[in-house]
Amino acid sequence: MAPRQTSVTAGAMIPLTKTKVTSNTLPIVWRNVIIFGILHIIAIFGARIAIFELPLGLWLFGLFYGLLSGLGVTAGAHRLWSHRTYKAKWSLRLFLAFCNCIAGQNDIYEWSRDHRVHHKFSETDADPHNVNRGFFFAHMGWLLKKKHPDVIKKGKTIDCGDILRDPVVQFQRR
Ligand SMILES: [Zn+2]
Repeated sequence: MAPRQTSVTAGAMIPLTKTKVTSNTLPIVWRNVIIFGILHIIAIFGARIAIFELPLGLWLFGLFYGLLSGLGVTAGAHRLWSHRTYKAKWSLRLFLAFCNCIAGQNDIYEWSRDHRVHHKFSETDADPHNVNRGFFFAHMGWLLKKKHPDVIKKGKTIDCGDILRDPVVQFQRR
């Protein structure tokens, strides 16, 4: 199959190859495996408490807290910082950055950078969560393995300076 061409920056063309990666020799990030493992064990205990012991007020608080975390990812890292779908004053950006912290999905800069790379190089080795490497990899596994060299190499061609220049993003990163 002929490589797909895509324009990255003005005039620059980088060849993209559709992949069907099944074997994966990239090293496992054991730190993340251990953190994820511990979080899932805690979740089992949490589920038992939620089912048998939790008062209604805390249930509602949990629901509200979960919604805030979703907002931090969807309205914040995704729509505002990755795609620039709308403009927001510092107060809303600060609120969304706070919500984004609750989600615990990397900081805003890392999330948005990975997401821009994902959109630009979808379903190639340069896609951080390339679905051709399997359902588990696309949803969880990509956070448990070292990034494919193409993600880093081609990712450098994506301009994310606008995200880093936002003082709210810098504050959240610190
Ligand atoms: Zn998107």
